[in-house]
Amino acid sequence: MSYSVICPSCHEKNSGNFLVCQKCQTSLLGIPREEFPPSSLNLTTQKTDTLQKEAELLAKISWAKLFRLFVTSFGVACVIGLIVAYIGSMGLDWNSRIQFSNGFFYASVVVAAIGYYNYRNEQKIQHEINMLYSQTAGSMDISERRKLWSTDEKNSYKAFFYLILVSAYLFGFAIIIWNIF
Ligand SMILES: [Zn+2]
Repeated sequence: MSYSVICPSCHEKNSGNFLVCQKCQTSLLGIPREEFPPSSLNLTTQKTDTLQKEAELLAKISWAKLFRLFVTSFGVACVIGLIVAYIGSMGLDWNSRIQFSNGFFYASVVVAAIGYYNYRNEQKIQHEINMLYSQTAGSMDISERRKLWSTDEKNSYKAFFYLILVSAYLFGFAIIIWNIF
């Protein structure tokens, strides 16, 4: 970045360190220097920097969210596992590791099935909502509709992912019980 100064009498562009105009010798003392390239360009770079920082922050937040998703689904899997183990040992008189392992395996299948049917149902509801929207088109603009749709879709994907994670943990427990205990 360099500075320049415009001569007040002949409007010649001079280098910022010149004390007199190179063309007409008018004094350039006290004339404000301007940045070159212009500061608007500088602003654009700053804006790009801000956008980049925002993107980095967003990535960090989504990593944190993903981590939380893994941790909380593990917690949910543990709770389900304890309930299955309790029912198995108290109500169903399980006494071998194979019975417990099978119990966890079935729990994992049930959770995955719930996740799948829930997802299918969401898709069906979403389809009906879309049909309704297309009938009443014009009452809501396209971008607004799309935004609403994508948020709902994101949530149903998230719920599906969450339940699949819980199911995977339960499946993992079943394998561990089968192999270790
Ligand atoms: Zn001049």
